[in-house]
Amino acid sequence: MTGMTPFWEGLERGAFVVQRCRECGTFRFPARARCLSCGSSDADWQEASTAGTVYSTTTVNRAVFPDIPPPYDVVVCQMEIGITFFARAENTLPIGSRADLRMVREADSGFIPFFVAADRDPADAL
Ligand SMILES: [Zn+2]
Repeated sequence: MTGMTPFWEGLERGAFVVQRCRECGTFRFPARARCLSCGSSDADWQEASTAGTVYSTTTVNRAVFPDIPPPYDVVVCQMEIGITFFARAENTLPIGSRADLRMVREADSGFIPFFVAADRDPADAL
C-alpha cells in the first residue's frame, strides 16, 4: 500500500499512524513504495511517537481556512521517529524546543494534528 489512507484513517480516530519499513524499521512520511534506507518495499503502518523538536516556525497572517482565523503558528518538527512533520501549533514554540503532536478534536472535521510544548495540555493551548 503506497497511499496515505491509513494515516487519514488514524487521524479520524485521533491516532498518529505512520508507514514503517518491515525490513529495517525506518518510518516513512509521506508514504513511499520503497524504503529510502534499505530499498525494501515491505511496509506496514504503526501508531508512532508524537515527540519532536521544533525545526522551523512561521506565523500565518492570512485566512486559509474559514474555521481558523489568523494569526496562528505553523511549525515544522523533526520527530523522534526520524520523520519531518508540520502542523498548526500554539504560538509559544521557539526553534529547538521540545514539542508534542496532539490530535485535537475540531467541531466538524474530526481530529487535526496540533503541536504543543512537551508536557502541555492541548485544551489549554487552543
Ligand atoms: Zn528499510
